[in-house]
Amino acid sequence: MYPDSSSSSQRMYDRALSSLPGGNTRTTVFMKPYPIYAARGEGCRVFDVDGNEFIDCINNFTSQIHGHAHPALIKAATEQLALGSAFGLPTESEIELAELLAARLPSVDQVRFANSGTEAVMMALKAARAFTGRPKIAKCEGAYHGSYDYAEVSLDPTPEAWGRNAPVSVAYARGTPDNVLADVVTIPFNDAEAAVSLIREHGAELACVLVDPMPNRAGLAPADKTYLEALRMVTREVGALLVFDEVITFRLGFRGAQGLWNVDPDLTTLGKIIGGGFPVGAIGGHRDVMAVFDPRPGKPALPHGGTFSANPVTMRAGLAAMRLLDAAAFARLDTMGEAVRSGIDTAFRHHGVPGGTVGLGSLLKIHFADRPIRDYRSAYLTEQEAQRQAVFNRALLNRGVLAAGYGLMALSTPMTDADIDAIIEAASGALKEVSAS
Ligand code: PMP
Repeated sequence: MYPDSSSSSQRMYDRALSSLPGGNTRTTVFMKPYPIYAARGEGCRVFDVDGNEFIDCINNFTSQIHGHAHPALIKAATEQLALGSAFGLPTESEIELAELLAARLPSVDQVRFANSGTEAVMMALKAARAFTGRPKIAKCEGAYHGSYDYAEVSLDPTPEAWGRNAPVSVAYARGTPDNVLADVVTIPFNDAEAAVSLIREHGAELACVLVDPMPNRAGLAPADKTYLEALRMVTREVGALLVFDEVITFRLGFRGAQGLWNVDPDLTTLGKIIGGGFPVGAIGGHRDVMAVFDPRPGKPALPHGGTFSANPVTMRAGLAAMRLLDAAAFARLDTMGEAVRSGIDTAFRHHGVPGGTVGLGSLLKIHFADRPIRDYRSAYLTEQEAQRQAVFNRALLNRGVLAAGYGLMALSTPMTDADIDAIIEAASGALKEVSAS
């Protein structure tokens, strides 16, 4: 049972405290009183250092779409490791992965690789500035896009900072320079009228509008099609680029979220699943915009390097992962996602707990709110909802299912029907505890 002060995880955490601040490298994996340390993973299961077994619905915050230690990915990565893991020369592998991504995404002619989603978003925003010669970017309130200063503005404004009408740009990290805030226009998610009006107001200075079609931290509510269409229309009108952050949503379908919504952005950022379990990011877009990276004329408008960008281990594993994701794989992920969402929704009603799931495809988020979840503000937890979520998370963990602390669950291709049933049963048991609490 978690927590257990005599566990190996507790001992490792105590040891970690002296060499890592707060014992930690990733704020996202921190957990009180101590995080569970992973020993190994196999398929959809993770085993911790105390020998406990979990069905993994965190999947490294959605990157592990094929679960852990998939034989095809082990083969691809180890074959490349034997040939060398990084060179100061390009390799054929990056051409192959770029070709695959461009073939899947109609809005993408060309691709540039990076090492993380954070970097991909940073380079996309810089590309938009280089292309348009304009300084500002617009982004949605509460949406997470990694830790580039501009992209993390207004990630977690509290109700006191919401402002009367339009969202205001609020610093996320202490020390964010005022000029960064001044160059970010925060727009509401899923409110087309308000977003269009703000974009028009700042139009002449806007390089781009950055939007995640199903923003995880802002509630995981899917964008209304009309919202994305309005952003497409108004960005064209003011001469700004439309950037889709598909670092997570690319796992929603063969052509990503843009294929599902049928809206073509000018630039797309990718990450997570396209690296086959290795660090990765990518920026893709139309040839004319991607020309800012082109070194042929001399110094490019936007110079971009990266010691490990497009390293062949990531490229080979990514290629193997993406090839496994054919139409049948996405259909299976969709079916499993629908089963888990409807199973958990039924359990909410059965145990009389207010809330339910939102999400699409292989992604879902559990909410304890008795109201429709549409955006950051409607997803914002009350104290009571936060308490319920904490009880739920602990109970789910102790029933052998891992989910992200804020309720996100991501499914993986190795899951079987029995695993799906086990996830629903664990969630139902956890909801029973919530209703008793
Ligand atoms: N964009 C989105 C939508 C994300 O969810 C994330 C990470 N969760 C990022 C960007 C940043 O990616 P990374 O963690 O690889 O830097």
